[in-house]
Amino acid sequence: MENEKTPTATTTMEKIVSLAKRRGFIFQSSEIYGGLNSCWDYGPLGVELKNNVKRAWWRRMVQERDDMVGQDASILMHPRVWEASGHLEGFTDPLVDCKKCRQRFRADHLTTDVCPECGGELTEPRNFNLMFKTFMGPVEDQAAVVYLRPETAQGIFVNFHNILTTTRKRLPFGVAQIGKSFRNEITPGNFTFRTREFEQMEIEYFVKPGTDEEHFNKWVEERYKWYKELGISPERLRLRPHDPEELAHYAKACIDIEYYFPMGWSELEGIANRTDYDLKRHAEYSGSKLEYFDHEINEHYVPYVVEPSAGADRATLAFLVDAYHEEPDKDETRVVLRFHPEIAPVKVAVLPLSRKEPLTALAKELSQELRRYWNTEYDDAKSIGRRYRRQDEIGTPFCVTVDFQSPEDQTVTVRERDTMAQTRLPVAELVPFLREKLETR
Ligand code: ATP
Repeated sequence: MENEKTPTATTTMEKIVSLAKRRGFIFQSSEIYGGLNSCWDYGPLGVELKNNVKRAWWRRMVQERDDMVGQDASILMHPRVWEASGHLEGFTDPLVDCKKCRQRFRADHLTTDVCPECGGELTEPRNFNLMFKTFMGPVEDQAAVVYLRPETAQGIFVNFHNILTTTRKRLPFGVAQIGKSFRNEITPGNFTFRTREFEQMEIEYFVKPGTDEEHFNKWVEERYKWYKELGISPERLRLRPHDPEELAHYAKACIDIEYYFPMGWSELEGIANRTDYDLKRHAEYSGSKLEYFDHEINEHYVPYVVEPSAGADRATLAFLVDAYHEEPDKDETRVVLRFHPEIAPVKVAVLPLSRKEPLTALAKELSQELRRYWNTEYDDAKSIGRRYRRQDEIGTPFCVTVDFQSPEDQTVTVRERDTMAQTRLPVAELVPFLREKLETR
């Protein structure tokens, strides 16, 4: 699973940003006002893509497993949560300012001791807390301070007892959650890779102490497999174990799954062995008992926890980058997004060869039928070649062409995105044909 060779990037970030805007995947937030730094909006195709990523995660991590349940906690939590978790005190990054050009940097990301932009002198690092503060209720005083959660994990720990008693799960079992998190990052950037508002897909997997290392290794494998199965090239994936000095204070071990983005190897997901740190801290700060009764040995204990923590936006960006291909096509370049069918935002496009009846009636009827099962586009504008290119560029796996023969003999042509092979089929066989190709599970 290790990847020592440096792979080639599929493309540059500029090309991805430009395609994302041109085709409606991702726009700059508040663009008509000049944009807001590091904030992005998912457009019509982007929301489908990101939803598919989240759905593929939920399906494999929750629905298909007997040892997992889900939850959805609120973003605002009791301020004591962040005291107990250590975030109030320790969720900081070291910040340095350039005395000359005034730019700010994360000291731990710098490779020189002068400003990388202008060579100016840097200030001493000071710790900067990454949590966003706001006020609850109409009075803006210290008593009303609450925080936007910087991770979804704590919402799971504080519900440990509720989930245990309502589901009656036995160890080992896990709780999954997808939701927004907020961090006032010092240096956001690289498109949606590092933003101040982002979505996480997190699992807290509770295990009997002593079995934690075995479960940790299983989760690393399981999560690596998830990316690979959904089409991410294995040569652009690698595992990076943390050095002991890099480990968070609560973690016994941590391995990052990294992807080779256009800016180089970068973290997609972290899998950490968090021991019993969080449950013990919340028990101490809240006064509630957060223990598990093990019927087999007739004993109470605090479970250990393994946490696979992924970013929905980072994963979406990796799927987008990895799918990107450029191929020579006569005098032009064919851009194709080779998404896995489960990830592709549009699954089928219906393309009538002309805007005349009876083609239109049949094409409209067909697209209506296909919409019952899959996200389907109907496109009758411009030449058929241009329309195929447009669907290739947004990663649609299949185009269904309705031609002049179609209304006569009730057949259509299905064109595959990757091979560009065309198959003529009776209309009645279209849904089963597509189902077999699109629903791979
Ligand atoms: P980094 O070192 O990149 O700042 P981290 O190690 O602090 O990340 P974690 O706290 O482990 O990140 O968060 C788990 C996951 O949440 C990350 O692997 C990433 O996918 C996602 N994530 C964290 N911070 C951001 C961010 N600012 N923007 C987008 N996704 C993020």
